[in-house]
Amino acid sequence: MSRHYDAIIIGAGAAGLHCAWQAAARGLKVLLLDHAKQAGKKILISGGGRCNFTNMYASPENYLCENPHFCKSALSRYTQWDFIALVEKHGIAYHEKTLGQLFCDDSAKAIVRMLLDECDTFGAKVQLRTEINAVSWHEGSYQVATSQGDYHAPQLVVACGGLSMPKLGATPLGYQLAEQFDHRVLPVRAGLVPFTLHESDKQAYSELSGLALEVNASNDRASFKEALLFTHRGLSGPAMLQLSSYWLPGESFNVDLLPGHDCLAELQQLRSERPKLGLRSVLQQWFPKRFAQTLADQQQWPDKNLADCSNNVLAAVAERLHQWPVKPNGTEGYRTAEVTLGGVDTEQLSSKTMASKHQPGLYFIGEVVDVTGWLGGYNFQWAWASAHACAEALNVS
Ligand code: FAD
Repeated sequence: MSRHYDAIIIGAGAAGLHCAWQAAARGLKVLLLDHAKQAGKKILISGGGRCNFTNMYASPENYLCENPHFCKSALSRYTQWDFIALVEKHGIAYHEKTLGQLFCDDSAKAIVRMLLDECDTFGAKVQLRTEINAVSWHEGSYQVATSQGDYHAPQLVVACGGLSMPKLGATPLGYQLAEQFDHRVLPVRAGLVPFTLHESDKQAYSELSGLALEVNASNDRASFKEALLFTHRGLSGPAMLQLSSYWLPGESFNVDLLPGHDCLAELQQLRSERPKLGLRSVLQQWFPKRFAQTLADQQQWPDKNLADCSNNVLAAVAERLHQWPVKPNGTEGYRTAEVTLGGVDTEQLSSKTMASKHQPGLYFIGEVVDVTGWLGGYNFQWAWASAHACAEALNVS
C-alpha cells in the first residue's frame, strides 16, 4: 500500500471533511487523518443534534478576526447558498429556526453522512483512530509519523480545530504545528460560552435557574438582542454566548431587561392611570414572577403603590431595568465553549487559498485559524468556505 499522497489533511471535522472530498474531486490523492473513533464529532452534537449548518445571512460582519477583511474572499467564493445546494443535492430536509439559522429537520448525522459519502465518491481516504506523533518537512515533502505508520505528501492541510470541548477530542496540535513552521499563534480564549458569576450573585440568582428573558446585552464592542438564560452556574442563552466572544476577563457589560420599552414613560403613565397598582405588580406584568421578586428584593425597591412612588424612584427603577450591570467572574471555559477565539494569525496566510505565505504546501483551515463566527451557523460556514478555498488551491501532482 502506497503511503504517498498529494495532500494529507489532519482533522476529520467540518473543515477537514469538506476539504478532503473537494480536493479529491479535483483529482488529488487525499488522506484525511484523525485520532478520533468517529468523524465530525462536533457536527454530530451541534445545534442540539440537528446541526445549525449555515446561516442565510452569513457575511464577513459576523466574524471576529484581528484582520476583519481576511474572511471576505473565502466567504464570497463559497457561500451559504453553495452549502445549501449540497445539502439539497443529498435530499437532506432542513428548516430555518430563527434569524436565518438553518437546521436539519431530523439529525446532524445526515451532514456527516453527506460529507463521508462525498469523500467515498471521489476516493478521499478517511482514516480514523490515528494518533499524530510528529510532522516533519524534508526536500519538499511532509512526513506525518502516526500510530499507523508514516505518510508522505507535498501538501499538508491543518484542520484540527481549536481547544473547545476537549472531551470531543480537541487538542492544541494545530497551534503546535503552526508554531513548528514559524507561524504566529494569537492568544486563544473560549468563545460562545456561558458566564459564571461571583458567589454573591450566584446565590442571589440561584432560584432563577432555568428562567429565560428576552434582553439586549451589550458592551462597547457589540450588542445582541436575544435570550438570556439563568443557570445554576451563572448566565447562558444566546445573548450571553454571543457577548462572551466580545468580553474580556474583569469587564462588566450591560443588560437591557426590557428592550423596546420606555420604562420611565410607561411607569409614569401607569401611575396616572392606575395609581393604586403596586410597583412590584407592574414588574410582574413585565417579567416572570420569580424574576420580578428577586430583582425587586435585590434592588430594595419599595413595596408601594405607584401613587406613592416619586419621580426619582420611578426613574431609578427604569434606569436599572434598561441598564442592569453584570460583572461575571469568568466563563465556563473550553469545557463548554462552542468555539476558540484567536489562533493561527491570518497575517501569514493567503486569504484566497489559506496557504502559508512562507512555508511551501502548508495550509490552515477552519477553527484553528483566527476567524471566529457568531452563534447561529456562522462557524460551520467558515469551516466550509475556508475548506473550499484550500481545496481549490491544492496542486494535483
Ligand atoms: P473541528 O470540527 O473541531 O474538527 C477538528 C478535528 O480535528 C476533530 O475531528 C478532532 O478529532 C481532530 N483532531 C484534533 N486534534 C487532533 C490530533 N491531535 N490528532 C488528530 N486529530 C485531531 N457551529 C455552527 O456553525 N453551528 C452549530 O450549530 C454549532 N454548534 C456547536 C455545538 C457545540 C457543542 C460545539 C462545541 C461547537 C458548535 N459549533 C457550531 C462550532 C463548530 O462545531 C466548529 O466551529 C467547527 O466544528 C470547526 O470545524 P473544524 O473542522 O475547524 O474543527
